[in-house]
Amino acid sequence: MSDSGQSPGQGSRMLNVPSQSFPAPSSQQRVASGGRSKVPLKQGRSLMDWIRLSKSGKDLTGLKGRLIDVTEEELKKHNKKEDCWICIRGFVYNVSSYMEFHPGGEDELMRAAGSDGTDLFDQVHRWVNYESMLKECLVGRMAVKPAIPKDYREEKRVLNGLLPKSQMTDISTKEGPISPSYDWFQTDSLVTIVIYTKQKDIHLDSIIIDHQNDSFRAETIIKDYSYLIHIGLSHEVQEDFSVRVVENVGKIEIVLKKTENISWKCLGRPLEKHNSLIPKKDTGLYYRKCQLISKEDVTHDTKLFCLMLPPSTHLQVPIGQHVYLKLTITGTEIVKPYTPVFDSLLSEFKEPVLPNNKYIYFLIKIYTAGLFTPELDHLQIGDFVPVSNPEGNFKLSKLQEVEDLFLLAAGTGFTPMVKILKYALINVPSLRKVKLMFFNKTEDDIIWRSQLEKLAFEDKRFDVEYVLSAPTSEWKGKQGHISPALLSEFLNRSSEKSKVLLCICGPTPFTEQGIKEDLSIHKFWHPHDSQNQSPPVPRLLHDLNFSKDEIHNFTA
Ligand code: FAD
Ligand code: NAP
Repeated sequence: MSDSGQSPGQGSRMLNVPSQSFPAPSSQQRVASGGRSKVPLKQGRSLMDWIRLSKSGKDLTGLKGRLIDVTEEELKKHNKKEDCWICIRGFVYNVSSYMEFHPGGEDELMRAAGSDGTDLFDQVHRWVNYESMLKECLVGRMAVKPAIPKDYREEKRVLNGLLPKSQMTDISTKEGPISPSYDWFQTDSLVTIVIYTKQKDIHLDSIIIDHQNDSFRAETIIKDYSYLIHIGLSHEVQEDFSVRVVENVGKIEIVLKKTENISWKCLGRPLEKHNSLIPKKDTGLYYRKCQLISKEDVTHDTKLFCLMLPPSTHLQVPIGQHVYLKLTITGTEIVKPYTPVFDSLLSEFKEPVLPNNKYIYFLIKIYTAGLFTPELDHLQIGDFVPVSNPEGNFKLSKLQEVEDLFLLAAGTGFTPMVKILKYALINVPSLRKVKLMFFNKTEDDIIWRSQLEKLAFEDKRFDVEYVLSAPTSEWKGKQGHISPALLSEFLNRSSEKSKVLLCICGPTPFTEQGIKEDLSIHKFWHPHDSQNQSPPVPRLLHDLNFSKDEIHNFTA
């Protein structure tokens, strides 16, 4: 706990309802031995309570349903707890009645009181669906209209034949300028759209394509930027298309099949944000509806969900990244993050990891008293769930030349480890050892235990060790919680100078305890603190000769 009495994660939430700091503060899961304290959540202030209040018909803006144009001067006046307006992306909300429901606390919301909170909001949870959550708090729009990007205005005219090259100015990054462009050409039966990223680090998972009716959307992730091609196609094309990446030059070719063999005079008309290069953090999340194909029990409370992408979507979730699922619960859109896994740790194990481009699998724990997962569990096979574009900051290059890979997972914190583990064993030739320390309450909670053991038996480089916090008396293995003693024994390198990577994921307090011995070092760091761009080197791992670069904390 920090001086303020808040855990570091608590202070970082801004209008965040689906908490990254999970389990919920008063959840059963936080009540544990070993001196960890239970943080009480105010009675009647859960997300469900907020949804109920916002649907009650109560006037939450004080404007009796009227929407107004808000000037900056007006916005500034509403800067008190009992009268608090915040602007997010040009829309102004009266969040006074939401204050007590905000899991990040009132102080966090007050940081943006009477001002534009967009940046603050984006820094922590741009994925939270505040439009739906705060619908009843909407006061109106800011009087000044947001500027339309130059590029978009210029391309508003109908495109004819040769499309103009991107009019983006070069954006320089450490690795060089980014100035993508695109072009198109056709044969009798095909239309090929070519994106020139001019970057080397482009793969099939760098491009996300969604084609629905005549709308064609191709988002290319280039470092921390997103380059969007968004066109209303001038003619019909077939559902299936192919994508090819020429990695050494960063060229992407998307081949569409014409429905009719006629010559196109133009590719189509530009749609919103077409031909724009935007920092990834400023792009909204795009969702497509995926169909629930199957749902299998994995443990008593965890299930393997299989979702199928629409036929005209190309989306491969990069290793170590997550997506957001969206459900409408009592009229409010709720969004929660989930990390895709493979369908099994063992199948096709001898093959290189080929991304399966039709299905996305999730291991999801159903919390009977939770908000989102019971709804997810109630979905019928054939139902649709909106799935977002991927997010996350894990870089596959971290695994390059790694010799020792240590994975620390608690509960469903195992999910990011699935792809990392499988990828490393197959695709990283330097790998000598992969060790997974898997923390759970009981033996019954261990996800894919038999697969893990089979894998350890088949591949001598892999070891798994379980640690249980609430074992039965028959349990002979390790027990307790993550601790310096457990870690120092576990984290032994195969040689003093071996290249290592340690990945950690689980409930936030678990990762905090895992990587920090001396909380006094960490408590001053805050994600919003511009003085500190990244968290300090965790003390415990530092003591164990781990540097900051050798650790990836998924829950950070
Ligand atoms: P919540 O409503 O958040 O409730 C969770 C628990 O808190 C329940 O036990 C409930 O009883 C308790 N609780 C809630 N409200 C109260 C209250 N007012 N008082 C007391 N107790 C309360 N999870 C997975 O299963 N698989 C994944 O692959 C996965 N990936 C993730 C990736 C990321 C990046 C992150 C941040 C999280 C991930 N999670 C994953 C967790 C997931 O996003 C959800 O947090 C989780 O599914 C819980 O959702 P819920 O709405 O059902 O539960
Ligand atoms: P869980 O079953 O409640 O807990 C798993 C183990 O962790 C148990 O042994 C538990 O001990 C221990 N633990 C819980 N809180 C702890 C704490 N404060 N300090 C030390 N040990 C603690 O876990 P779960 O319900 O599956 O939850 C998994 C978590 O992982 C969620 O918070 C989820 O959001 C997160 N997650 C994050 C990502 C990501 O960021 N990419 C991906 C997937 C999951 P006790 O018996 O004492 O509780």
